[in-house]
Amino acid sequence: MEYNDSPSMEQKRYVASVCPEYRSRVVALSESIAEEEQMISCDGCIHWNNGRCVIFDEVLTGIDQT
Ligand code: SF4
Repeated sequence: MEYNDSPSMEQKRYVASVCPEYRSRVVALSESIAEEEQMISCDGCIHWNNGRCVIFDEVLTGIDQT
């Protein structure tokens, strides 16, 4: 599996749902918004940078650190 440029919305949602580093940008900015109300996706993560994240590919391909 290789995803080079723009990951799909589905991929970003999947990755964010399993990513240990996911942190909602909106929740980080506003404590009054509950995390459950957000759509979880890399797009909303504080680590997402210009369509990239250093660990995105690793999460997408399924890292197992246990
Ligand atoms: S942007 Fe990076 S840190 Fe954030 S959920 Fe996606 S892969 Fe994880």
